[in-house]
Amino acid sequence: MAKVIDSKIPAGPVPEKWKEYKAHQRLVNPKNKLKLDVIVVGTGLAGASAAASLGEMGFNVINLCIQDSPRRAHSIAAQGGINAAKCYQNDGDSIYRLFYDTVKGGDYRAREANVYRLAEVSNNIIDQCVAQGVPFAREYGGMLANRSFGGAQVSRTFYAKGQTGQQLLLGAYSSLSCQVNAGKVKLYTRYEMEDVVIVDGRARGIIAKNLVTGKLERFSANAVVIATGGYGNTYFLSTNAMGCNCTAAVQCYRKGAYFANPSYVQIHPTCIPVHGDKQSKLTLMSESLRNDGRIWVPKKIEDAKALQAGTKQGWEIPEEDRDYYLERRYPAFGNLVPRDVASRAAKERCDKGFGVNNTGLAVFLDFSESINRLGIDVIMQRYGNLFEMYEEITDVFPGDVANEINGVKYYKPMMIYPAIHYTMGGIWVDYELQTSIPGLFAIGECNFSDHGANRLGASALMQGLADGYFVLPYTIQNYLADQSIWGKVSTDRPEFDEAEKAVNAELDRLLNIKGKRSVDSIHKELGHIMWEYVGMGRTAEGLKTGLKKMHELEKEFDTNLFVPGSKEGLNIELDKAIHLRDFFTMGQLVAFDALSRNESCGGHFREEYQTEEGEAKRDDENYFYVGCWEYKGKGNEPELIKEPLEYEAIKVQTRNYKN
Ligand SMILES: Cc1cc2nc3c(=O)[nH]c(=O)nc-3n(C[C@H](O)[C@H](O)[C@H](O)COP(=O)(O)OP(=O)(O)OC[C@H]3O[C@@H](n4cnc5c(N)ncnc54)[C@H](O)[C@@H]3O)c2cc1C
Repeated sequence: MAKVIDSKIPAGPVPEKWKEYKAHQRLVNPKNKLKLDVIVVGTGLAGASAAASLGEMGFNVINLCIQDSPRRAHSIAAQGGINAAKCYQNDGDSIYRLFYDTVKGGDYRAREANVYRLAEVSNNIIDQCVAQGVPFAREYGGMLANRSFGGAQVSRTFYAKGQTGQQLLLGAYSSLSCQVNAGKVKLYTRYEMEDVVIVDGRARGIIAKNLVTGKLERFSANAVVIATGGYGNTYFLSTNAMGCNCTAAVQCYRKGAYFANPSYVQIHPTCIPVHGDKQSKLTLMSESLRNDGRIWVPKKIEDAKALQAGTKQGWEIPEEDRDYYLERRYPAFGNLVPRDVASRAAKERCDKGFGVNNTGLAVFLDFSESINRLGIDVIMQRYGNLFEMYEEITDVFPGDVANEINGVKYYKPMMIYPAIHYTMGGIWVDYELQTSIPGLFAIGECNFSDHGANRLGASALMQGLADGYFVLPYTIQNYLADQSIWGKVSTDRPEFDEAEKAVNAELDRLLNIKGKRSVDSIHKELGHIMWEYVGMGRTAEGLKTGLKKMHELEKEFDTNLFVPGSKEGLNIELDKAIHLRDFFTMGQLVAFDALSRNESCGGHFREEYQTEEGEAKRDDENYFYVGCWEYKGKGNEPELIKEPLEYEAIKVQTRNYKN
């Protein structure tokens, strides 16, 4: 019999659902909060905001992160901004419009009710962050400023120069520090969760490794929340921070938490192109640049060939010979089409031979028109740190004049190409953000909840902070309301013994392989397989080949890995080996899901399923569901469980960004 998933979505139309939900929700008696402990794993925007809020509400919080400070979580990398439906511009924005854009942007594969709730709390996030002192950009008159991001025709993105994530995290960190000072949050930095401990079917604790001493430690609580980020680094090269990993999420999956929509991986259109095989990181050029930058390639193939050979420069090509292909193909949204659409369009041009650098895998992002219109000072105010970052990496400053044709100044354009950036898939959660394991919750990028098959720009921070400040602190209480009578379980229980023994055995296994290959060399090879067969364009044949190659490489990992050092003390190579073990599980899961979904939608593009114009072709009749995967043991195919999607407020249709 097919398994049924209870997503706990309250009945009734959007937006009444969320209000209804709040009205009937169980809350924890304030006195009992003191008896309840919650473990929050992660201090990115999702984790830090959740830990701070839970502490503030009176719960006892244990908060862990792998970095030496919560302020160094990957969230600080976020450049461009955070969405909210404030409508300060008076440009027709509304909660409904943000909700609609997000559902459409996700190619109608998100849960409608969750997205409505997200749009509704988006405005509270901005108020909360302003109250914390986050220095959002302001207009001359003092009003908070906005810019536009992909998939929207209104300006709803709040930003702090190109450092929005860092400033938001500093705000959340202040609140967190306040709770640490009040004794409500106990912070453990440089601790890595290795396993979740299940007692009588509920998550009641974790095993974590002290990354400095190498010792394993046990933590017990009434509930566990993971906020450990996405799995983009499965691909080795990505815009994610080097430390990003999916170990906690994969371990929860191994223990019975369903993993939803793993094939929905976001490839960001504006990254600095790969420039050699010694690279370990790719750099994002924020989507905000598409507000003023225009994307183009030459119209003539001979110009493209000259650019590839280095005998011509972009600024020597006159206006009439430039193909602003996004403006041509999508007149209504132009350069601000969603990321999946922009990435595929860049690939299409480069595949046809119009790439503009020596590898043929790059397109131009050009600021000439906007600098001529607004002046370099305005452009520098908006994107100064991004221009400097680009110069530091490529030695080209996009604000430098390079040429003048017919009295028009041409500035040096950036070169960009799509790269792995974000993962929409994640641990399956119900409407309360609880996983399929009672007592285990997942928030932020590590859950699958709100973005469907494609995330719109500036919506990850919105979701992470919505989860952390405004959703989880309430929904978790529904679970905790009657938990105070059980108390905390002892870490001496056999379930903790068993979990710790298993983690120890894994560490020994990895150290004792004593083969010849470094973690990075194998990870790089896995990344090549992922990009080649499970990347931007997928086919059934390619996915099967990719899976076969992954199995072979995993065998190589299990038999020929070399990890220097020992279990005691700091051993970064050992930590990376654990992460790589889990990237293998994740990579195969992405491929299984992609193979099972015989349609194209959002970030999942199966080449067999496309329109004549090369757009994604969905199959709503057969694939209008969340694909949830249940772990069936190493080497075995996981089992697919479907959560059907139900739309009441929005008409499901083909995405259109042309008019
Ligand atoms: C370059 C870049 C720019 C971006 N710009 C934007 C933007 O402008 N707007 C936007 O909306 N989104 C943006 N994003 C996406 C956004 O930054 C992320 O989706 C978001 O910050 C994720 O937050 P998080 O709290 O879920 O996870 P993270 O910030 O990744 O935090 C994960 C936390 O978990 C901890 N952790 C991980 N594993 C373990 C473990 N096993 N044990 C203990 N702790 C663990 C880490 O220490 C960390 O504290 C950008 C992403 C990138 C890569």
